[in-house]
Amino acid sequence: MNSIYISPGRYVQGVGAIKGIGDYAKYCGDNAMIIGGKTALSVSGEFIEKSFKENGITINAVEIKRGEVTQEDIDRLTKIAEEKEINLILGVGGGKALDTAKGVAYYTGSPVVIVPTTASNDSPCSSSSVVYSADGAVSKVLNMRQNPQLVLVDTEIIVNSPVRQFVAGMGDALATWFEASSCMASGRASNLAGGRSTGAALAIARLCYDTLLKYGFAAKMAVEKKAVVPSFEKVVEANILLSGIGFESGGISGAHGIVGGFSILHNDPKYDFDVFHGEEVAFGTLVLLVLEGKELTEINEVLAFCKSVGLPVSLKDLGLHNVTDEDLYKVAERACGRAIMKNLNYEVSPGLVFNAIKAADLLGSSFAER
Ligand SMILES: [Zn+2]
Repeated sequence: MNSIYISPGRYVQGVGAIKGIGDYAKYCGDNAMIIGGKTALSVSGEFIEKSFKENGITINAVEIKRGEVTQEDIDRLTKIAEEKEINLILGVGGGKALDTAKGVAYYTGSPVVIVPTTASNDSPCSSSSVVYSADGAVSKVLNMRQNPQLVLVDTEIIVNSPVRQFVAGMGDALATWFEASSCMASGRASNLAGGRSTGAALAIARLCYDTLLKYGFAAKMAVEKKAVVPSFEKVVEANILLSGIGFESGGISGAHGIVGGFSILHNDPKYDFDVFHGEEVAFGTLVLLVLEGKELTEINEVLAFCKSVGLPVSLKDLGLHNVTDEDLYKVAERACGRAIMKNLNYEVSPGLVFNAIKAADLLGSSFAER
């Protein structure tokens, strides 16, 4: 297996960065389609329009993203893009607008520029787009030939996004180092690009974790006060760039495997299980650490971080305080059905995963009470 490293073509981050978007986007194309969330466009639309005009980029279609990322919607927009000979697709907003833009770029083959307005997960820099069916279940993942040509992050916009979303982004980023290192240790895991990991990806994943530990708490305070300070800038980079490259080029394993297992309970009316992806990933990371037999000092470091920023460390925190063993076993079974569970350096079974979830819950609950 070859070693493969993939990343966005260019990453730009800063206060007011959106005002200069055309300076960078002009290298991608000159006939643009914009797909954006309503709020995102109301905040940034004017700046994009001005900067595109100054740089000779024509905006030929503007689509306000509503609802889920579906194949129908992507097909409809792909048709418009082809009719108008669009050669630059800009996605601006939260996850749905971005994934839709990537989905259209997947079919048209045109360069895509991504402007995330929250730092709630690590997908903006990645080449993949998650498509859902009408009932809200994941139906497929589209992998573009190339990552976004440009990811532009305006930290003034991010600092005004909800605190809980920013913290969830840290939860998604928390898993990156542990999953990338478990993939590397397994010796047989492939990353999201279908190759072996590289030292570069592993170093980036480690930097991601270290950044969270050093600056995560201060960054959360900064978002609460809506103040752009260096610690906040560092964690924005960790949530979006470091975690993005770290997961895609480093590989994913047990934390996301557990999240895949929990998806079975999402629509179960017995539970009040309404959490952000990154919140589930934080708990999934804890389960991964238990599964891999990590030392208590390492587990406690993760628990202390989660507690400091308010990430869930127990089933109760996830809204699953009354979850039955029967349902948890189903979670474990579904998790084990995912190929990424084979990326661990340890062979897992539903029984072991079930036990690890229980143990992680106990460790997290007792730590939280301290
Ligand atoms: Zn994730």
